[in-house]
Amino acid sequence: MISDRLLQLVRCPDCGGRLGGRPPGLVCESCSRPFATDPDFLVLHPGITFAEQTKYLDAALHADARHERVTPPLLGARIRNDVLRSFLAPGPGDAVIDLGCGSGRTLVWNAGLGAYQAGIDVSPYFAREARAQADLVLGDLRRLPFAAGAFTKASALDVFEHLSRDALAGVLAEIARVLAPGGALFVYSHVRKNSRLAGGLRQINRLARWMERRGLVDLSRERLRKSDHLNPLADIPDLESAVAGAGFRIERIRYYTPLVGGFVENILVRAGEHWLAKRAAARVAAGGGGAGRDAAVRDVRAAVKRRAGESGPAYWGLRAVTWIMKIDLVLFGRVRSGPYFALLRRLPAEGGAP
Ligand SMILES: [Zn+2]
Repeated sequence: MISDRLLQLVRCPDCGGRLGGRPPGLVCESCSRPFATDPDFLVLHPGITFAEQTKYLDAALHADARHERVTPPLLGARIRNDVLRSFLAPGPGDAVIDLGCGSGRTLVWNAGLGAYQAGIDVSPYFAREARAQADLVLGDLRRLPFAAGAFTKASALDVFEHLSRDALAGVLAEIARVLAPGGALFVYSHVRKNSRLAGGLRQINRLARWMERRGLVDLSRERLRKSDHLNPLADIPDLESAVAGAGFRIERIRYYTPLVGGFVENILVRAGEHWLAKRAAARVAAGGGGAGRDAAVRDVRAAVKRRAGESGPAYWGLRAVTWIMKIDLVLFGRVRSGPYFALLRRLPAEGGAP
């Protein structure tokens, strides 16, 4: 959606000027650039084009339409959202921006916490529920189309690893600009240096590849997603210096080596999904139609998501598995490794400048 509050916070991504008029007729009051809008979100891409572009713009990554509906947070997504709530603690009086919000599901999950929330992403694959309930902007994190100090808190999940070193520095500077002094940024990402525990994760991934060769799982989407990783940071000291360069300090950090979670999500969930998809495809083939295969797979996935979203046995079974997956955080949360959750605090600018 596009609320009046959002219209007050946005600025021209090119010159930082205020935007005049009402959607769909927004125009920059400084440089006169007109902006197109969608009924559900503002389109505020910068005029300049960057050489570096994420594969998240790739329609193939969204062809299965799994972004279209938001289901309750379960498994790894639940763990990430629970840590976000505990670290960032969004509440009444906060204005929170979700950077690289994807479908906008985090905004939907946390809508009840009383904070004002908005989301920005480079690609328009927003979920129906997010379009209806959350303020959404299409734009580039390297030119955030928001006023300085517009937000008290921000989150960036699965974002840093997709950026080059230069782009990361630019994005961090932009986040520091749109956060009020003393504001906080919650990050979930990873650095390249892993602990020895990660060896266990490599074994799980080897098992997944072995299963793929035998037609038991399909890892193609996972490969497409990971092929976009640039992994700009070597280790945690490297992270510390990168964020310090943009005026942040790491206030809290917890590491996430998902051994139990990796087994559940990369093996069990994938095998289950694949089995359901194959069964749906077989049903279509038996019915004489070949063209409907993708649609059938999509339908079965939607049905599974719907069932998981109802408070039936499927939902509670997945909730129980999610609890078991939390063992990874409890046991390994203090073992310094690649994947991490961090709360970054924006330091007051030196010399008294805002
Ligand atoms: Zn402008």
